[in-house]
Amino acid sequence: MIAVAIDGPAGAGKSTIAKKVSESLGFIYVDTGALYRAVALACINEGVSIGEPEAVKTLLPKIDIRIIFFNGEQHILLNDKDVSEAIRSENVSMAASRVSALPEVRAFLLELQRGFSKTDNVIMDGRDIGTVVLPNAQVKIFLTASPEIRARRRMLQLQEKGMEADFDKILFDIVQRDYNDTHRETAPLKAAESAVTVDTTGLALDEVVEKITAIIKERAAL
Ligand code: C5P
Repeated sequence: MIAVAIDGPAGAGKSTIAKKVSESLGFIYVDTGALYRAVALACINEGVSIGEPEAVKTLLPKIDIRIIFFNGEQHILLNDKDVSEAIRSENVSMAASRVSALPEVRAFLLELQRGFSKTDNVIMDGRDIGTVVLPNAQVKIFLTASPEIRARRRMLQLQEKGMEADFDKILFDIVQRDYNDTHRETAPLKAAESAVTVDTTGLALDEVVEKITAIIKERAAL
C-alpha cells in the first residue's frame, strides 16, 4: 500500500489538490479535517462547551463518526446523519480548531484515520498526518501559502457557494487558526522531517497538481 501525507495550514489548497491528484492516481482521498469538524458539530448540537474538556470527553463515547465514499466523494456521517455540508461553516471551522487541541479528541480519531491506509492506497490531508497519523508514509508533503492568499481563496470559495464572505474576518480567522494549530501541545501543525515543502503562493492550481503528482511518482517509484 502507498500512503501520501499532505499537511499544511488552513486554506493552503490541500483538499482541492489532494482530490485531483488522488483521482488521477486512483488512490482514495481522506480529508481528516472533516473528522475534527464533525466532533465540533456534535459539541455544538449537544450544547457542549468546547472550553470544558471534561464535558467534551463525556460526549465522545456517544459520537459515531464514519467516512463513506459515494461516487468517489467523501461523505461524513455523524450518528448516521450526513453532515458533509453542515461541517463547512466558519463557525464549525473555529470550533474544530479548538476541539482538535484536546488530546482525547485526537486519540479518539487516530485509529479511524489509520484504518484507511491498511486497506487502500491513500492520500490523506490534515495537520499531523506525516508526523503522527502515518509516520511511515512513503510520501510526505507540506503545503503552504501566505495567509493573504489563503484568505482570498477561501473568500472566493464561499462566494461561489453564494455564502457571505468578509475578507478581513476570514484573514483574521485564518491567522487565529494557524496560531491554534501550531501552538497546541498535542500533534501541532509542523512539517515532518522528510516532508517536501511546496509553497503555492503565486502558483496556479494546475501547476501545483503537476508538482505534487511528480513528487509522488518519484518518491513512491510509481
Ligand atoms: O482541514 P480543515 O480546515 O477542515 O480542519 C479543521 C480543523 O481541524 C483545523 O483547523 C485543525 O485544527 C483540525 N485538524 C487537525 N488535525 C488534522 C486535520 C484537522 O487538528 N489532521
